[in-house]
Amino acid sequence: QEKAYSLMVRVRIVGGRLTADQYLACDELAREVGNSTLRITTRQELQLHGVLKRDLAVTIRHINEQLLSTLAACGDVERNVLACSAPIKDRVHEEMIEDARVWAAHAAPRSTAYCDIWLDGEKYASLPDAGPPLLSQPGDDPVEPILGKTYLPRKFKTAFAFPDDNCTDIHANDLGYLAIVEDGRIVGYNVLVGGGMGTTPSADKTFPFLAVPLCYVPRDQIRQIGEAVIRVFRDFGNRSDRKRARLKYVISDWGIEAFRAKVEEYIGRRLDDPLPVTVTDVDDHMGWSEQGDGKLFLGIPVENGRIKDEGSLRLFSGLRAFVEKYKTPVRLTCQQKLILADLEPAWRDEVNSWLEEYGIASVEKISNARRWSMACPALPTCGLAVTDAERALPSVIDQLEAELARQGLEGERLTVRMTGCPNGCARPYNSDIGLVGRSAKLGPDGVPGPGTYTILLGGRAIGDRLNVEFKDYVPHDQIVAELSPVFARFVADRIGDETFGDFCDRVGVAELGGVPATAEAE
Ligand code: SF4
Repeated sequence: QEKAYSLMVRVRIVGGRLTADQYLACDELAREVGNSTLRITTRQELQLHGVLKRDLAVTIRHINEQLLSTLAACGDVERNVLACSAPIKDRVHEEMIEDARVWAAHAAPRSTAYCDIWLDGEKYASLPDAGPPLLSQPGDDPVEPILGKTYLPRKFKTAFAFPDDNCTDIHANDLGYLAIVEDGRIVGYNVLVGGGMGTTPSADKTFPFLAVPLCYVPRDQIRQIGEAVIRVFRDFGNRSDRKRARLKYVISDWGIEAFRAKVEEYIGRRLDDPLPVTVTDVDDHMGWSEQGDGKLFLGIPVENGRIKDEGSLRLFSGLRAFVEKYKTPVRLTCQQKLILADLEPAWRDEVNSWLEEYGIASVEKISNARRWSMACPALPTCGLAVTDAERALPSVIDQLEAELARQGLEGERLTVRMTGCPNGCARPYNSDIGLVGRSAKLGPDGVPGPGTYTILLGGRAIGDRLNVEFKDYVPHDQIVAELSPVFARFVADRIGDETFGDFCDRVGVAELGGVPATAEAE
């Protein structure tokens, strides 16, 4: 008899947009074949956990019947494309999601193998059909002209963002389109390349890297420039050492000028310089807001992205009841949170009562530290995890809240991000406080406990700066104790309204008592 293999199924959702029916279909699958939870990822997707192998085909088929897909939600391909999911009804938000969908379709695998294997050859999802002429080259694979016969050296991630709202964390992506807005319209994009979080602590040749500006393109050229970047990565990415297979290493090894020259060669013309526009702010879109069309939206914090029923919190069943009743769309954010869209102003009181009834905390009822925190699933779900993250972060935040309040810092906007290994799926390396799983700690019964973590300081909420290692191998229950003196220095020595991350960056981790990792600790 075959073992009961259990799998994770990731639903690809460009820009994090779900209709009411699509959300309810995912909810039903989570109850029927999953573990009765849904998990919002840092890339605006939903994950179903605990799906048995025997249920896989029917699960994937059901997802595709809802015009969603699992195609390219994983693997060495273009992953889920990110775009601001706030349901703001203005021209620039509509243009951005239109561009994100165009790019996602253009870069998607074109092979029919997915449909052949999972959908009996039927084609539910709308795969690319109206792309511009491809940058064809002799020897292109006729089936996969962009990705090639063997697909990309490793995963490839793209985000669209606004300069004043970097809610998609554009610098953490291989390819970023930063909108250039003039007179209420997106006229083009600054193109950023080479972002990526993953690293291997024991290998100096690996490191996190933030995307750097490559060029400016008018709006109608996003496909051509993105395709040229992917083709250069496809042809020059490292295919012999998987640790060095991301685009960031091509750019780091060559330098941005040589990379740009190669992209120009592939695209067949000189590229325009990027415009002097950079990221200035970020909005997590939590709480009540006006959409601009007379309706409202409500951003709801979801701790570490887990939609579940546990104790007095009944988020999983509460959302089902809400969407069944109001039939309104659901949006997913890159901070693992959720937005209920298209709400009538007259519903506001009953929606607030619904939050109370199901024990769902509104953003006003949680601390800033919890609001801006994220964790990856880690143990026991992820096979690469060395420590806990989703299960370990809430208790760290409990302690952090108390310590911040004690030092009068409860009003600070701090990004705290924890992962269960250095791959960095919850983007810990550009946060104010990064906590990266370092080593497992076995409890007396041999079951792994929360483990030890590397603490990194000096990133910031807008995501345009990497943090730096402060302490290594810090046990889970010592994290806040290690941070406490740094908060005290911040209170004593901050300049003006300097943020915690800016303070740590200015003063430096060595001055703050940081110690480098030692060989003995390993
Ligand atoms: Fe990603 Fe590592 Fe977390 Fe797994 S444990 S989800 S690989 S960061």
